[in-house]
Parts: sequence; structure tokens; C-alpha cells
Amino acid sequence: MQTRILPIDENSLKLSEKIILNGGTVAFPTETVYGLGANAFDGLAVKNVFKIKGRPNDNPLIVHVHKDYDILNLVSYVPEYAKSLAKAFLPGPLTMVYKSKGVVSSAVSCGLDTIAVRIPSHDGAQKFLKYLNLPIAAPSANISKHVSPVTAEHVYSDLDGKVEVILDGGKCSGGIESTVLDCTGEIPVVLRSGLITRDMIAKVVGDCGEYVLKEGEKARSPGMKYKHYSPNCKTMLFSYAECEKAVERYYKYNAEGMNTYILCDGQTANSINVDKVLNLGNSDYEIASNLYYMLREGERKAQMIIAVAPQKQDGVMAGVMNRLIKACKD
Ligand code: AMP
Ligand code: MG
Repeated sequence: MQTRILPIDENSLKLSEKIILNGGTVAFPTETVYGLGANAFDGLAVKNVFKIKGRPNDNPLIVHVHKDYDILNLVSYVPEYAKSLAKAFLPGPLTMVYKSKGVVSSAVSCGLDTIAVRIPSHDGAQKFLKYLNLPIAAPSANISKHVSPVTAEHVYSDLDGKVEVILDGGKCSGGIESTVLDCTGEIPVVLRSGLITRDMIAKVVGDCGEYVLKEGEKARSPGMKYKHYSPNCKTMLFSYAECEKAVERYYKYNAEGMNTYILCDGQTANSINVDKVLNLGNSDYEIASNLYYMLREGERKAQMIIAVAPQKQDGVMAGVMNRLIKACKD
């Protein structure tokens, strides 16, 4: 199969529609990362998404719809707090998990009785979803466990020959995956942290829980238990307090002939004396936006990435830390 990167226009949308209606897959941009989309009603197409990615078959997919789509087609109940949150944050990087109506393929939610729904704000994603007017099941458009893609070229490097079309919407501005929020209980519960933080949610609806996977417990959001987001090179992670140690290692490894880079935020980059830096920038949103991009730059340039965690770890940085820890896991 030949993989083509195309600008988002009438021609590529028409072609994408044809591919999706024939049971194929199309990669498309969102404001978080690129997604690998298939028709959520088509079980074979959805199963193919798992196959293409090498994704474990107990890790459910998020269904994407355009902003005027009536989610009551897909979900059986929307609590009042979820309506307020939708008003405050959608379209945007917030995925909401509801009780499912069971109309999409059971492969989407891996047999769970819930469904995760997302309305992305990215203009290209909206155009694609509106053109199809179908729920599109889409995980991130990378090989499972690899760093999520934030450019069309990243998708191409993972999925060349496996997807027909990659719709090119430039570099994703958000940079980390959506917040996943369980909306099936009395109060919303964050299952995966992201750009819409627990505090932002609590401000709108008064209360918001956070799910922490306990040892031996079955994961409520199955994706949480996997190693993820990892670059194809060696990695190490040091805390902010251990920055000096990280720099020592950097010099040691480079002296031994292992091409080593330090990945850190702008504040740390300015305070250390090293040449090979993958600088994530300064504000929380800048750091989130650059994280996967710089991990991909790192694996392209380096044999070893030594990451230094940012000092701040709450809010958006909680989402960044969650990814950084999983990226640097053995
Ligand atoms: P990805 O497609 O890689 O962004 O991962 C999707 C995330 O959403 C994973 O962490 C999944 O476990 C989670 N997810 C998808 N559907 C559900 C669901 N029905 N209930 C709970 N979590 C879900
Ligand atoms: Mg993913």
C-alpha cells in the first residue's frame, strides 16, 4: 500500500471518505496528537486499527465526532455535570466516557459497556469528521508504545505502507493526548491527565476525582497499565533535584562515545552547561506542546536521552510527567 501525505481540501476529504466507507483507515490531525481513524460502526475496520498499531486488544479506542454531532446517538445517558463540562471545554482536548448505547462495533470499547467520546477543536479534524458525519474510532497514529505523532511526518515514519492517507494539518499545538474523564458516576473522575486539568474541571462542576491504579487492580482505563510513548533509543529520567547527576552522566556517556542529549525545560537548559540539549521551552503549555516532538528529535539524533523532570509537577505538568515517566520506563 502506498501512503500519501495530503493537504486537507475537497479532494483529500473525498478520498478519505471513500477509504473510510470501504473499511480503510485515514490518519488525521487533532489539537493533541495525530489519530488513526476508522469507521466506528465497522468492526473489521476497527480491528484493523489494532492490528496496524500492534495495540493490545484490551485497550479501548476513543470515538471522535464533529461539534454538531448528537452524542445521544452513541451514549445512553449524559449527566448534568457532563453537560456543563461540554459547554466549558468542547470542542477541545477532553475525552468523556459515558454509558454506551452499544451501537458502534463492540471492538471499539473492547467489550466494555462504556464509550469514550471526543470532539476535537482542530480545524482539520472538524473538517474531516464533518465531511464523514460518522463516529470515527481513533487511537494515536503511531506504532503501539512508540512516541505519539505530532506531525504528518511522524505518522509517515511509523505507518508508511500501513495507512493510505495522512491528512496533513501541521504540528499539533497541544502536544499530549486528551484528558480522559469518566462521566459514568456521581462526580467526574480523571482517568488520564492532559491539558484540561482536574482543577479546571472542579472549578466548573465543584468536584472532580482522580483515578490511581492500585497494584493488582483491573484498570478502569486499560491504557494506563502499558509502557508508552517511548523513543527508539536509550532513556534515563532524573528528578529536578538530581539535575547535577544528570549532567555528570551526560559528560560521562559522551566521553565514552555514546551520543547523549539532555531533555529538559528552558529553566534547566539555561542553568546547565551542556551543548546537546532538547529544550522543551518555558510555559506549561509550551512544554506539553514540545514533549513528543523533542522525544522524536532525540531518537533521531541521539543514542541516549537523559531527561530532567521539570520542577513544577501539578496541573498540565502532571500530564507531562505521566508521559515522561512512561517514556523513560525500561
Ligand atoms: P489513545 O487512543 O492511545 O489516546 O488511548 C485512549 C485512552 O482512552 C486509553 O487510555 C484508553 O484506556 C482510554 N479509553 C478509551 N475508551 C475507554 C472507555 N470506554 N473507558 C475507559 N477508558 C477508555
Ligand atoms: Mg496512544
